[in-house]
Amino acid sequence: MKEPLIHQVPEALRHNILLTTVDSVLAWARGNSLWPLTSGLACCSIEMMCAAASRFDLARFGYEVFRPSPRQADLLLCTGTLTWKMAPVLVRLYEQMPEPKYVIAMGSCAISGGPFVDSYSVVPGIDKVLPVDVYIPGCPSRPEALIAAMVNLKAKIKDPKVALESEVANHG
Ligand code: SF4
Repeated sequence: MKEPLIHQVPEALRHNILLTTVDSVLAWARGNSLWPLTSGLACCSIEMMCAAASRFDLARFGYEVFRPSPRQADLLLCTGTLTWKMAPVLVRLYEQMPEPKYVIAMGSCAISGGPFVDSYSVVPGIDKVLPVDVYIPGCPSRPEALIAAMVNLKAKIKDPKVALESEVANHG
């Protein structure tokens, strides 16, 4: 809140009301209630399932509503090895999701093709076909890494400056 606005609020009310913008409230709500569309393509999917199970309990962060339908999701969670044959299906699912929408690439295969990068049939990273917001390295990636990625994505959604710094760090 800028200083001049604070001075317009009576002293007695300053600790009882919040002034903000509609954009900030929407970003806060979006960042705290991501609804993932799961795309389990290979072994990293087991780690994704573990993240939602009781030991890691992704529900603590409000992210447990995994959706089987793109119409009800705002985060495409791509875990595993994407083949060129499967790529058009994944892109179609992404296009069916409503805006605003985000993508997480989980595991070496999803971010770069992993151990299959030299194969004729494997996409060398899903960013060849989709815009990726957060990359998770590892073969496989751990459930904790997925939770950290979702917390990082929340920070990007809530604060455009974080997203900009991340872009610069990723692409120079
Ligand atoms: S990164 Fe490793 S664990 Fe994950 S899908 Fe690829 S081969 Fe499987």
